[in-house]
Amino acid sequence: MKMKKNRIQKIQQSLTLWYQKNSLDLPWRKTDDPYRVWVSEVMLQQTRIETVIPYYNRFMVKFPDAGKLAGSDIQQVLKLWEGLGYYARARNMHKAAQIICEKFQGRLPDTREELRRLPGIGGYISAAIASISFHIPAAVVDGNVKRVLARLFMDATPINDTGEKNHFETYAVKLLDHEQPGDFNQAMMELGQRICKPGNPVCSDCPVQEFCMVFQADQVGNYPVRVDRKSVPLKKMNYAIVFHGEKCLLLRRPAEGLLGGMWEFPGYEQQRQTTQPEKQLADMIRRITGIRISVKEKIGTAGHAYTHFKVTATVYLCFYKSGEICLNGPAEHQWILPEEIHHYPCHKLIHKIFPMLHGLANQEE
Ligand code: SF4
Repeated sequence: MKMKKNRIQKIQQSLTLWYQKNSLDLPWRKTDDPYRVWVSEVMLQQTRIETVIPYYNRFMVKFPDAGKLAGSDIQQVLKLWEGLGYYARARNMHKAAQIICEKFQGRLPDTREELRRLPGIGGYISAAIASISFHIPAAVVDGNVKRVLARLFMDATPINDTGEKNHFETYAVKLLDHEQPGDFNQAMMELGQRICKPGNPVCSDCPVQEFCMVFQADQVGNYPVRVDRKSVPLKKMNYAIVFHGEKCLLLRRPAEGLLGGMWEFPGYEQQRQTTQPEKQLADMIRRITGIRISVKEKIGTAGHAYTHFKVTATVYLCFYKSGEICLNGPAEHQWILPEEIHHYPCHKLIHKIFPMLHGLANQEE
């Protein structure tokens, strides 16, 4: 694609000026400390700014630098991350902080190549840290930036087509302001978040309106183009709240993989229909934990939508009958009082089950 130098310069100037006058007052904008930029960018992936702010502030109080993060227990990190989702982000940050302390004396490396070698840091985050903290001309490209570029240049390449991953990067690289790469990148991101929004862009407030090809052609509603995604699969989970006296059983997932390291009630994904769900549940819990249980009754259902699938969960009240815990799959178990559950990092679906715990202890088997 061809871009006239003059037009590029005008877009850069308009955008950077707008950002310098109108950018949001966000806690991670008060510094160019690479550690703080890193934490904020990791948290902001797939997550809204308003959601991130309190998490970021709490994280900085507890882990103000890479050394503190590296020296902490991963369970503390996951507890602070609880509710933000995509827990691999927290586990990767913890691992990366340890490498930063071992190899770089606790300071994030100042080249994009070295940044990209750290766990969880890919093209986008390395470009953000490099440009904002080290003023290296590296262009950031996320969903917001792609949308702005598709509209600005009236490009009908689908922005969610993974086969066209580098297509919009070419625009972003050409458009990047090499004098102020950090401000320019943040301006592009903020323009996408606040003005050039997915459904209803506020073109009347847009600093680059006069250069925007879809606006000039009255085609705003038709861009960006997306490929249809298949409908997301639905998983059915069954969970057992197993009481042994006043305490109930909680299991920790293995450190790696989906929701790694998070705590949950014993459960399993139902792969086949059954006419005896209670028997299937008791059999599965025995296979996972080694103990025998009795299933008293179904006490509720909960649902949650993840990025690539949805889950509906059926929750049963159960009682311990016999046997020793012998885990097959989970990494750890605890018998806890229901009110202690808030001390453990749990994923969102389990949080939706929490209210069902009220009044369950001391029930008759
Ligand atoms: S004019 Fe409208 S569509 Fe074009 S970049 Fe600005 S907000 Fe987006």
